[in-house]
Amino acid sequence: RIAFVNGRYVRHAEAAIHIEDRGYQFADGVYEVCEIWHGHLVDERRHLDRLERSLNELSIRMPMGRAALSQVLHEVVRRNKVRDGLVYMQVTRGVSRRDHVFPPATVQPALVVTARSSQPAAAAALAEKGVSVISVPENRWERVDIKTVGLLPNVLAKQKAKEAGAKEAWFVDRDGLVTEGGSTNAWIVTKDNCLVTRPAVSGILKGITRQVVLDMIERNGLTFEERAFSLEEAKQAKEAFMTAATTVVMPVVRIDGQSVGNGHPGELTRELRRMFHATAEVSAV
Ligand code: PLP
Repeated sequence: RIAFVNGRYVRHAEAAIHIEDRGYQFADGVYEVCEIWHGHLVDERRHLDRLERSLNELSIRMPMGRAALSQVLHEVVRRNKVRDGLVYMQVTRGVSRRDHVFPPATVQPALVVTARSSQPAAAAALAEKGVSVISVPENRWERVDIKTVGLLPNVLAKQKAKEAGAKEAWFVDRDGLVTEGGSTNAWIVTKDNCLVTRPAVSGILKGITRQVVLDMIERNGLTFEERAFSLEEAKQAKEAFMTAATTVVMPVVRIDGQSVGNGHPGELTRELRRMFHATAEVSAV
């Protein structure tokens, strides 16, 4: 396997970052994960838009021009011969003697890009059955709209889910409303077939997959409402699912051990999963 690290393509096993990288010391950096589907990058444009936005919010420079970065993404995918999988990019504020305040402007942001294959058959099998989620109290900071590598609450939540035999943890805020999953956006379908997801104004990362699903909903004239929903409403819903570049549209069939609907993936959820790649914007590797 090959990784891109600060200007060089290196063997993955030997790829390394300096011990004074601010990503390592302060989680002072951001990342993106883009799906690779049948030899195509999925929604690269939107992922790069969001990367630029995250960097802007933290006053970190783009490590290189956007066109050059796009070339690196494609090259890493090509060199790793990935047809279906994920490409990961991470930008940190760079390497400097440990000090909380920003380093001098001469310090270059650090860029790492990796790619790996996934097992589409395993993902398809999982989607056939659907997954379980547990709920956990929301304990993250207010700027979850920035895709930072500071993911400790997400790590702990997802570990707790795993130990409970579940795939994802849904954060629930003090008002009993679901914000999002540890690495996914949360959705429900009401009894009268209305798709519901939380508005991307607070409490969530504005998922790219979420946006593609909203596009599908619009194109197909489905009914939807962008509003917060409670954990209780989710448990009583007809269907539930989660979205992310890593899982696309994944049916949720149990919440805190309670079946959603008939305990099987819902019709609308399955249809959205089937349609997904026809709606997303893809660019050939
Ligand atoms: N919410 C969180 C906290 C995430 O980490 C992610 C993706 O990693 C998402 C939502 C889904 O975003 P996307 O659809 O852009 O992958």
